[in-house]
Amino acid sequence: MQLQPKIAPYITEIISRLQNAGYEAYIVGGAVRDFLLNRQPKDYDLSTSATPEQIKKVFRDRHVLIIGKRFRLVHLHHRGEIIEISTFRKRPPDQTELRRPGKQAPEHMIFQDNEFGTAEEDAWRRDFTINAIFYDPVNDKIVDYTGMGMKDLAEKTVRSIGDPVLRFEEDPVRILRALKLVGQYEFAMEPGTENAVRQCLGFIVHASASRMTLELEKILKNPYGHRILETFRRYGFLKLFLPFVDSRWETPACSYMMKLLEERNRRIQEGKYRDSISLAMSIMTLPFAEEEISGRAPGQLWEYVPELPVRLHEILLRVLQPGMPTRRAVAAAIRTLLLQDRVKTLQIKKLLSHPGYPHARELAIIQNHVMWKFWRYEEQLPAPEPRRKKRRRGRLRTDRSSGGSESAEAAGTSDLTA
Ligand code: ATP
Ligand code: MG
Repeated sequence: MQLQPKIAPYITEIISRLQNAGYEAYIVGGAVRDFLLNRQPKDYDLSTSATPEQIKKVFRDRHVLIIGKRFRLVHLHHRGEIIEISTFRKRPPDQTELRRPGKQAPEHMIFQDNEFGTAEEDAWRRDFTINAIFYDPVNDKIVDYTGMGMKDLAEKTVRSIGDPVLRFEEDPVRILRALKLVGQYEFAMEPGTENAVRQCLGFIVHASASRMTLELEKILKNPYGHRILETFRRYGFLKLFLPFVDSRWETPACSYMMKLLEERNRRIQEGKYRDSISLAMSIMTLPFAEEEISGRAPGQLWEYVPELPVRLHEILLRVLQPGMPTRRAVAAAIRTLLLQDRVKTLQIKKLLSHPGYPHARELAIIQNHVMWKFWRYEEQLPAPEPRRKKRRRGRLRTDRSSGGSESAEAAGTSDLTA
């Protein structure tokens, strides 16, 4: 049974505080889209008439940071999560004078986008009509300034706001964003937008590496990421985004990779595991590493070889190039892959019941579903033993007794800490 999607109460509270301080404030972007499509929103983007400094004042009791150069916005920290709050902006004027000499960027490319504006101006500077719907959860009010957002959402259409070629020239990352929407929701593009995507694909080389990496990370997190990659391939965009994967698309290793990704995403949608970026990176690397290191068909594990971590690192970077994931995520992905060795040496039961290797356990479950089929029912797997709490040395007892119950409650392990 599917639960009704809900706006997280802390988001409504943030909006309410901004409104009570005299500002306009809405939920915008993907969270509104998902909410209206009956999917549970995850990452919330908020937009307000308050400037970053004014937002900071409203939330002076909270952990708030003003970030960004090209696009200044506020990060409000809430229990380990970051909520982005941006100030309404208007569409920037022509920026020909900001072009760097020698760079063959598209004629109308935008380099700065920081001029504040009204809510309506803010809606019109957004990329697609379905991304320009504002939602006020306090008064349960939808504002659709373009007048097309709700209709396009109902008709499953991705439509550029304004002239699509101009909008893709202004910011080529919008091409990728259009294809992402098509893949993730199985929407179609309005013909003008679709023609412009095909015509402007090559502009993507002008997008900055950091923004492309950000998009790669979002796709790796997305529970429909495999469909996004398929869409990229269909439009000839994959060779610009993940050239290695594109060049291997027709191989057994790549179709194994896509099946693993699909299974991983199904498990996220069913709430069986979390949307870990590093696990997605391990999955994308695994079939190519198996092929290269074992020299056998995908799904066949490798023997231990000298310098295995170095080789895995090389293969992982090759698969994800030109994306540059964080070193931390790369290290975590390699740690997960290195545990494949335990699967080989029949220590799999130990691995599956070990609380310290959740990603490796999840990867083994996914591999089993897709390829090995050792276990018929997941439920028959040994449950991981609860992770033992590390004892912190040198801490006073009083410290533990005061903070212990709260942290145990947060981790859901109160019965183990008695
Ligand atoms: P996701 O579910 O991947 O987060 P999203 O649409 O929320 O999708 P974000 O990158 O979080 O994507 O952006 C939030 C909103 O900001 C978008 O919905 C869109 O309205 C606007 N936006 C983002 N990038 C652009 C862009 N390049 N040009 C114009 N508007 C943009
Ligand atoms: Mg978003």
